[in-house]
Order: sequence, then C-alpha cells, then structure tokens
Amino acid sequence: MSTISIAIDGPSGAGKSTMAKRLAKELGFLYVDTGAIYRTVSLYACRKGLAPTDGAGIAALLPEIHIDLVYGEDGTQQMILNGENVSGEIRTPQISMYTSAVSAIPAVRAFLLELQRDMAKRKNLVMDGRDIGTVVLPDANIKLFLTAAPEARAKRRWLELREKGDPITYDQVLADVVQRDENDTHRAIAPLKQAEDAVLVDTTEYDLEESYQLLLRTIRERM
Ligand code: C5P
Repeated sequence: MSTISIAIDGPSGAGKSTMAKRLAKELGFLYVDTGAIYRTVSLYACRKGLAPTDGAGIAALLPEIHIDLVYGEDGTQQMILNGENVSGEIRTPQISMYTSAVSAIPAVRAFLLELQRDMAKRKNLVMDGRDIGTVVLPDANIKLFLTAAPEARAKRRWLELREKGDPITYDQVLADVVQRDENDTHRAIAPLKQAEDAVLVDTTEYDLEESYQLLLRTIRERM
C-alpha cells in the first residue's frame, strides 16, 4: 500500500510548521518538520566549535550524529541528538542563522535526504521544509508553497521570540529573515523554490485561522 505525502515548502516564518502540524492532526497524518532536522545537525557542529561554512569539517562529523524524531501525544516533534533532547536548544536565533549556512553543504543534504524519504515511505505525512516538493518528495500527492511578505513573516517571528522573553528587536528579526531568504534561495544545491506543480498560498493578508482554512480547503479539493 502506498502512503500519502503532503509537501509544504516556503521561506522562514511563513507559518509552515504551525500550519503543517495542525493539518497533520486534522488528517491523522504524521507531521515532519525537516527544518528541525537541519537545526539538529547544525547544533552538533556548532557545539564542536566549527564555522558553519566549514563544509569538510562538518561533513567529517556526520558519522557521529544519530538523530531520532520522537512524537508526543499531541503530535509535537521532539528532536533527539545522540540520545539528548535538543528540541528547545535548536530554536535560538543563533542556531537559525548557523543552520542557514550549514544547510547549503551538499554532504549535509545528502545525509538527510534518505532519512526524510524513508519516513515518507513508511507513513502518511505532512512534511515541511524548503525542498520537499522539488527534491525530497518530487512525487508528493499534494504540494503547497506557503509564503508571505518578509515584513509579515518577521513580525510573526518577532512576536513569538518576544513571548519567549528574547529581547531581540523587530529590525534584527527582519534582517535575519531577509538574510536567510537570500541564503536559502541562492544556494547551489536544493535552493528554496516553488515546485512547478505546487499551489502557491500567500498569507500576508491572512491571520492564522484564515490561512489554515485556506490550506485545508486546498488540500481537500485535491485529495
Ligand atoms: O524551517 P526552519 O526555519 O526551522 O529551517 C531552518 C533552516 O534549515 C532554514 O533556514 C534552511 O536553511 C534549512 N532547511 C533546508 N531545507 C529544509 C528545511 C530547512 O535547507 N528542507
């Protein structure tokens, strides 16, 4: 029996994880946040003190890295790095920026490709990332490309960080968003881009609930 996959790609802060998680719950599918997997590899390299651009150094570390995805009752994905739960630590702005560089390293992408494809072979899932519809799961049943204006994405992310007590300014978050967009869309391998057969959803003018209903409708029309 073949599985069903829904791919959601888009730039950082577009609301992919919030949407993908809720959609997966509604559909009874597994939710896979691939950004968290890239962040986990990056955290390991960062702790070792390597520069995020040190492709050879980071490639050499990969055999030491064992990653498990564990799911809580509410469907929350926990990242386990060599037995340690690092789900909180991978979410800092420093690791976001570091990951943006690490994810351009071809050996890192190759290392994570099979892991992601294996999951899709075994379960019905909603997978979010940057290259899911284009590279990881080119045969996904439904592909969505979720985006919003950089200012709208920065504002959402800033509010989230502020809620957690992070003193970062809106201007800094916006600069980070713009820098990560630039890195993700211009890297040589698996750049962020809309798959030809993906449905474009722009949520600049929508709040969370409206965005969710729009995505759910789009999926239901195609399933
Ligand atoms: O989605 P999130 O912001 O957590 O992703 C962190 C970083 O991981 C992104 O900026 C991007 O560089 C990288 N990433 C990627 N491919 C994916 C998912 C994330 O390159 N499929």
